Amino acid sequence: MYRRSLNFNDINKWLEEEDIVIGDCEDKPFTRFDPRVNRLYPVTNGVVNSVLATEEEKDGYRKFYVHGAANCIDLCKSMSRGEISGCFIEMNMCSGGCIKGPAAGDESISRFKVKLDMEETIERAPAEEDRMARVWEKVAFDKLFEDHSPREPLPTEDQIREILKITNKTKPEDELNCGACGYPTCREKAIAVFQHKAEVSMCIPFMHEKAESMSNLVMETSPNIVLIVGEDMRILEYSAVGEKYFGKTRSEALQMYLYELIDPVDFQWVFDTHQNIHGKRVNYPEYKLSTLQNIVYIERENAVLATFIDITREEEQAREEYEKKLETIDLAQKIIHKQMMVAQEIAGLLGETTAETKTTLTKLCHSLLEDGSEGGYAGGGEEREIPGVHLGSGAVPLKGVMTPRDTPEETGSKGYVHIGSAQPSGVKKAGYVRLNSGDLKKPGGNGGK
Ligand code: SF4
Repeated sequence: MYRRSLNFNDINKWLEEEDIVIGDCEDKPFTRFDPRVNRLYPVTNGVVNSVLATEEEKDGYRKFYVHGAANCIDLCKSMSRGEISGCFIEMNMCSGGCIKGPAAGDESISRFKVKLDMEETIERAPAEEDRMARVWEKVAFDKLFEDHSPREPLPTEDQIREILKITNKTKPEDELNCGACGYPTCREKAIAVFQHKAEVSMCIPFMHEKAESMSNLVMETSPNIVLIVGEDMRILEYSAVGEKYFGKTRSEALQMYLYELIDPVDFQWVFDTHQNIHGKRVNYPEYKLSTLQNIVYIERENAVLATFIDITREEEQAREEYEKKLETIDLAQKIIHKQMMVAQEIAGLLGETTAETKTTLTKLCHSLLEDGSEGGYAGGGEEREIPGVHLGSGAVPLKGVMTPRDTPEETGSKGYVHIGSAQPSGVKKAGYVRLNSGDLKKPGGNGGK
């Protein structure tokens, strides 16, 4: 167990703090003594080389080295099985030895180059032993190792079988021992589950199978049409309910391209733009189907997932309601039209009556003038307005019905008709016709002067 350690990052930081650039430093011999071949320790096979360099006579051990965590663990297991004996072994947990360990720093330096450089330059000769002895006398080389391996409770065979059963491993052939969970065998993983070091869901084949069966469940039971389509428009998934609408079973549809079933234009747009479509109404008259569609792009799979909700019934109801509204509007328009016709007829009749009244009254006026006027009636002479004649509201002055002997300015007001009770101001009584309301009601009644 190390109490303190310096890695390459620590050394680089220290050099930086001290403003030391290795390249600028001059070469100097070791101040105490040159360890010579022992300088090879940081590279793989360095320890073996240093032992060989000091070996004066064969010690009988076969010497080799391993590096990397997996190799070291493998070797230890092999040793524990008693497969290896009589060997001197150099084991480096770091792959390639110290020179390229986890804190080696500079990524640009190849560990192979460093190893070759070191092996080329370092002298394959042992350090001077008499000088070394003074150093190692002060170093304790003995070390007491204690067993600190974790003492986890071990499950019984029945407990292991129970755990394996959770992931559908009931027979030995179900145990794939694929290692995808991080444990080399299914049994070891089951033991880890028992010891609360692993989760049941870490079994990848089991989870894949489960996901597939869940997906199948969705595809078999979904009330909506679910489609997954690949970039080539091949149908990758198709919910069983699709058969009801498109007349194709799931297994048939999975052999088809989308364009053999429906127009794929929206799917193509989603593929091209990687944008989604939500809540779009699409009708398929050929299938008598109206749908509300969501079409989304799945980037990880480069596929498009679509769900179609059947809204045919709702659309039909909406259409019926719309038609009812149109019928109501049509009826209202017909009533309005009829009312207008009646109003126009009434107005026409009223107009006729008014015109007749006007004609009748005009005739009456003429007849009155013919009967009682002192002024000479010219009867079709030159048409002109008769000054001072008041026919009341809406009447027009009579034209061409009278020829006064003199103009009023010359002789006073003579030879004109006045209809109404009041005598016009500024005119003399003689020579005019006055009609009161009784005369108007009674044609042929009181008239004359
Ligand atoms: S992932 Fe599953 S099948 Fe593979 S070894 Fe682990 S437990 Fe066994």
